Amino acid sequence: MAKNFRQNQRKLQSVQIATKYRTKKGRLKGDNKKQTKTLRLACPHHYYSKKGALKSATFAPNNDVLICEQCMKKIPAEQTDNNEVKKLVKNIQGLIRQVQYANVEINGGEKVQKEANELMVRIDKFPKMYKRVFSIVGSMTRKSKNNKKRNKRKNGGTQQWGTWDATR
Ligand SMILES: [Zn+2]
Repeated sequence: MAKNFRQNQRKLQSVQIATKYRTKKGRLKGDNKKQTKTLRLACPHHYYSKKGALKSATFAPNNDVLICEQCMKKIPAEQTDNNEVKKLVKNIQGLIRQVQYANVEINGGEKVQKEANELMVRIDKFPKMYKRVFSIVGSMTRKSKNNKKRNKRKNGGTQQWGTWDATR
């Protein structure tokens, strides 16, 4: 990504929190197990250096995947087709629907019912979120490719979205 863009970026609170709880080894670690789990689930996969520069916390062991050292989880390197995303979400919604149904049958209580409902409503928004974020990734990748051409720089970026900004 263009350097100026990164420097002018507003600081994200999620990245500031990750930076605060990052150990020397680069892992996110909270005061207890529960906090560590929450921190890792909410990992932005980036941190700020001591000078305040945005850094990726990922490395790529191969072309298919990035691994984040903070949450120790895999991030698929390739963008997924929007229709495929919709299909995957529909499958998860089928599972949630099973719980909505079965929990009533077993008289499992309102707490579980509400949690299932919340998951359902939230994940319903996900395909739109995915599409929006990656349409911007696409336009920025195109722009940075054009800039590289203009600068006649060799060793241009890769097609992978995950590595265009993997400054470390
Ligand atoms: Zn992470």
